[in-house]
Amino acid sequence: MTPCRIESDRGIVKILVNEACSGILSRSPSALEEIDWRAQLRQAFRRPGELLAFLGLDGDSDTHEGNPTFPMLVPRAYANRMQRGNRHDPLLLQVLPNSSEQVPVPGFISDPVGDGQSRQARGLLHKYHGRALVISTGACAVHCRYCFRQHYPYANDHAGRDLKPALAYIEGHPDITEVILSGGDPLMLDTARLGELSHSLSDIEHIKRLRIHTRLPVVLPDRVDKDFCAWMGALPWPVVVVIHANHAAEFDSNVDGAASRMRAAGAHLFNQSVLLRGINDHEDSLVELMERSFAAGVVPYYLHMLDRVEGAARFDISIERALQLHERLRLRLPGYLVPRLVREQAGAPYKLPVL
Ligand SMILES: *Cc1c(COP(=O)(O)O)cnc(C)c1O
Ligand code: SF4
Repeated sequence: MTPCRIESDRGIVKILVNEACSGILSRSPSALEEIDWRAQLRQAFRRPGELLAFLGLDGDSDTHEGNPTFPMLVPRAYANRMQRGNRHDPLLLQVLPNSSEQVPVPGFISDPVGDGQSRQARGLLHKYHGRALVISTGACAVHCRYCFRQHYPYANDHAGRDLKPALAYIEGHPDITEVILSGGDPLMLDTARLGELSHSLSDIEHIKRLRIHTRLPVVLPDRVDKDFCAWMGALPWPVVVVIHANHAAEFDSNVDGAASRMRAAGAHLFNQSVLLRGINDHEDSLVELMERSFAAGVVPYYLHMLDRVEGAARFDISIERALQLHERLRLRLPGYLVPRLVREQAGAPYKLPVL
């Protein structure tokens, strides 16, 4: 057994816990939060067979490791919300690799939204007026099988190590008033690193808002710990956090907790979802998602058509079906719970409304 030990990394104390002392230490959870989400990440499911066994399901001929450059990754906190014995669980289907991922489908390409053509500096995309998107890291806590950035060349193109080119670009463009931290998932960075990033940005006077797009509050809610909330609460700009949840079952009391901590730190919370065949392409499921999201303090923002990325064809639904579903949402929900139905088009000046 590896011994318990304490490490210090740029001012952050990490306590590495073994089984023998974890029982004692777990009595003071606040001291452990910093290691907790990292430790949870290390324990994430990485083999489909393991996840299926955890859910009491057999691997069958369709159990597949998927695209080797985008292997399965599922935190246990997320897997815990899946229904045991249900092969069609809407959370499971979002993350379980499938042999169809390796089969080319016409129209499904590696960069469907034209990220490549809006790249302006290392780790910086500038596509929409006034907003610059910083690819702050290539890492995520979960690998969503429908992800439009699953083929993005992160290894050579994120701002994680060297922010200077991205900062220089923002500095040179006074029309950029909003910086969007994206990725990958910006919450995969340590809070200390986020602090360095926001510190550099705070020297740029034309920035008025900071936006963070993240799935961590949903798939690993313990990431929203005290240090992170203290960082967020001290930022010099209004902060918008856009979380990504596609199904009501993705919310539980831990997600509610993460959302309320972020709200207490002053963040405005929105949710963005993708319409996914077999997962949420049903009006009751969508109504429930919008209501559940709002109950957590998160306002529905976008409902996206699937970006037609290589490997994700099994999730696609037609525009006609999407419009029907959206109409049902208008009929059943107050206006502020009806997300904007949009699709991304390479080269378009904003996310296009689906009409
Ligand atoms: C989606 C997106 C944005 C933000 O668009 P909003 O409509 O403001 O949410 C900014 N930059 C890029 C590259 C995007 O893909
Ligand atoms: S968390 Fe977001 S960026 Fe990461 S795999 Fe999922 S959809 Fe893609």
